[in-house]
Amino acid sequence: MTELTNSDPIWAYADAKKQAFCDLADRVWETPELCYGEYRSVAEHTRMLHEQGFRVTENVAGIPTAVVGEAGEGGPVIAILGEYDALPGLSQEAGVAEPKPLPGNGNGHGCGHNLLGSAALLAATAVKDWLAATGRKGRVRYYGCPAEEGGAAKSFMVRAGAFDDVDAAITWHPDTFTRVWEPLSLANMRIDFTFTGRASHASAAPHLGRSALDAIELMNIGANYMREHMPSDARVHYAILDAGGVAPNVVQARATVRYLIRSKELPGLFSLIERVRKIADGAALMTETQVEAKVVSAVSNLLANTPLEDAMAAAFERLGGVPFDAADRAFAAKIQATLSQNDIESDYASVGVPVEEGKPLCDYVVPRFLKGEPMVGSTDVGDVSWKVPLVQALVATQAIGTPGHSWQVTAQGKMPAAHKGMLHAAKIMAATAVEAISDETLLARAKQDFLARTEKTPYVCPMPPEVQPPLQPRPAEAA
Ligand SMILES: [Zn+2]
Repeated sequence: MTELTNSDPIWAYADAKKQAFCDLADRVWETPELCYGEYRSVAEHTRMLHEQGFRVTENVAGIPTAVVGEAGEGGPVIAILGEYDALPGLSQEAGVAEPKPLPGNGNGHGCGHNLLGSAALLAATAVKDWLAATGRKGRVRYYGCPAEEGGAAKSFMVRAGAFDDVDAAITWHPDTFTRVWEPLSLANMRIDFTFTGRASHASAAPHLGRSALDAIELMNIGANYMREHMPSDARVHYAILDAGGVAPNVVQARATVRYLIRSKELPGLFSLIERVRKIADGAALMTETQVEAKVVSAVSNLLANTPLEDAMAAAFERLGGVPFDAADRAFAAKIQATLSQNDIESDYASVGVPVEEGKPLCDYVVPRFLKGEPMVGSTDVGDVSWKVPLVQALVATQAIGTPGHSWQVTAQGKMPAAHKGMLHAAKIMAATAVEAISDETLLARAKQDFLARTEKTPYVCPMPPEVQPPLQPRPAEAA
């Protein structure tokens, strides 16, 4: 275990303002909003940016729930990325270790983005205060990014040029273990396939009907047969959004299935998508229906950046693990009591550290380059990593074993342990930013590493140009 030190002057700037940012995280926790509907959450972040004296740009990339705040003059531009969107169905009372949804719309911060955004804004504020105190040249930007959960807002922000003049980007995610994120996330694309056939009386005139639902079923069978012949790290999932009605005696004239296709890298994604499109065409041919494919969203895989990861790892070495206390551990143990032994052991296995009994919270920094069995998802941070050198931290804010997107995450999101993890993440990101501004060679090395990774397959935005973010109207009470 690394001993806790306070070697970096930047950490005092984060400590000085921690209370205001814990309160910000709590307020966002209390107003859980979904994909592009984060009007109250972005208002809280915008207010904080103004209070802290940032130059604020609202409506970034034409998205009303995206905001950017900048501070400092000249020098390199360091972006610190935050998020604040919640999830449906994960409403839960804070500090209660049993499922207990709160009254309301059922939304909850089941991915900890209330902490994610607040820590990023605190890190940017600390760097801003440090720049002002030292008179150094450099600019720090906080990017308030909405709709990470299924909305790919960062992909749209990259496409709109919001990161064009950025030299390096830093972010983090709340987690069960503390470490530098070794980038592993899949590129993905969501496509809606809508089949159009012809309605008819299913018994009296079946020969006149052409079933859109049949087409979906055949498409799914085709996709399921493809599985055996696709790369083993690719993923294909589907959900029937519209089965064509509820009457079995009416031939379904129109039906929609959403495909979520994931692959390790963009080129692999594009070739898999071509195969899924052929399967859809085949299903339409077999059923004499028409099919229309509409891309809903897409994100790129995450690119690593070794120099920035080394800098972040060095900051972790100086800072140590999150200083949890006995009360934090007591509540985390209660959360662990709601999990299976398998949940907890798989979490250890995913990171690659041996199981430790009686240690419900990770209070150390996981060594790098362990052979874990990481569980892979996708994130729109991937697109930023194809545009600029990017590094991410994972910081413990919740009990070991806590599954992602669960009521247990919501239950822990406002606890003192979560606040400690949030402050820790802010310090790590701020220290990495300070290093990038102070060490002139670091950004040059990061850029070189980035160019080497993108040289062979330059970035192509996976989102077709006509796809726009599915913006949501501003609710009357948030106007
Ligand atoms: Zn998340």
